[in-house]
Amino acid sequence: MKDYIQKLQEEHCLTKEEFTALLSCQDKSVYDYAREQAAKIRQQIFGRDIYIRGLIEISNHCKNDCYYCGIRRSNRRVSRYRLTHSQILDCCQEGHELGFRTFVLQGGEDPWYTDQILTDVVRDIKKNFPDCAVTLSLGERSRESYEKLYAAGADRYLLRHETASEEHYRKLHPDGLSLQNRKECLWNLKKIGFQTGAGFMVGSPGQTVEHLAKDLLFLRELSPQMVGVGPFLRHQDTPFADQPNGSLQLTLFLLSLIRLMLPKTLLPATTALSALHPDGRKLGILAGCNVVMPNLSPTAVREKYLLYDHKPATGLEAAESIELLKKQMKEIGYQVVCQRGDYPQSE
Ligand code: SAH
Repeated sequence: MKDYIQKLQEEHCLTKEEFTALLSCQDKSVYDYAREQAAKIRQQIFGRDIYIRGLIEISNHCKNDCYYCGIRRSNRRVSRYRLTHSQILDCCQEGHELGFRTFVLQGGEDPWYTDQILTDVVRDIKKNFPDCAVTLSLGERSRESYEKLYAAGADRYLLRHETASEEHYRKLHPDGLSLQNRKECLWNLKKIGFQTGAGFMVGSPGQTVEHLAKDLLFLRELSPQMVGVGPFLRHQDTPFADQPNGSLQLTLFLLSLIRLMLPKTLLPATTALSALHPDGRKLGILAGCNVVMPNLSPTAVREKYLLYDHKPATGLEAAESIELLKKQMKEIGYQVVCQRGDYPQSE
């Protein structure tokens, strides 16, 4: 198995069969080896720097009904909110003072945010904070809409593909959503010029190692600048309320493999990883991650953006705790840097 890891490191790809074998192995020494190699590569490219992103959850309204997600349309127990233009700008102001130079606007798929409303917000953020990058994570929109957002100044777009297997996609989503459209959106985003992020949950219901192998191959093919991967976590008010959470060890292993496959990728240690394990964030960094995304949303709405049970929004996940975050990273030999943290340009 270590040969496969070496091959991945040298050739940046494996066959589906090789990935499947590697992901089936569950051998601690293989996990350790992957982690060490991934940490080495990350160090070569990014040194000891950890990039931070201020996450602003702009809306928990969603027109979709994904079976895993706590803010799905059918969940009547969610108290719904939307942030206004000025609330979003206030979050950025606070974040800028704290040292953030990237703002991530994330939300459910909420048609209330028309292109006009969003382009105005993006333009004002870029005008008030010209040294900052704007990342959007607002789901599937038309190519024209993505083009307008890019023209308004948005730099990056996160859209996890969720699973690259048609039949698994159908187990996670109702009819009306399609993997084909999701992929189409990702290719459009890349073509338009966004630094683009894809990704998936580890341990989502019905997932097999073959599915994960296909996820890795899809990432290889798309070669996104960012990859979001975290464990699936159940939410009590969804059809998946009784499903087991994703595995910590397997998530960390996948993060290491992604670092080896796409060495320069911006790879966050996700909030879900922190929710799964108290040391999740540190473990993610040690496995090859180089980004963390503390929560900058107004405190009053944080508890309403619950994608899964026990989602942390305070303590180490809160942007106000940036000093704690710095200390935590220092403890494991890393430093938080206040830069935009773009995808490294090729020499
Ligand atoms: N509506 C946007 C943003 C979704 S929230 C979009 O469609 O891209 C960001 C990510 O949270 C999702 O892409 C999904 O992978 C993850 N997520 C949702 N529910 C989750 C759960 N129960 N456990 C873990 N991650 C979850």
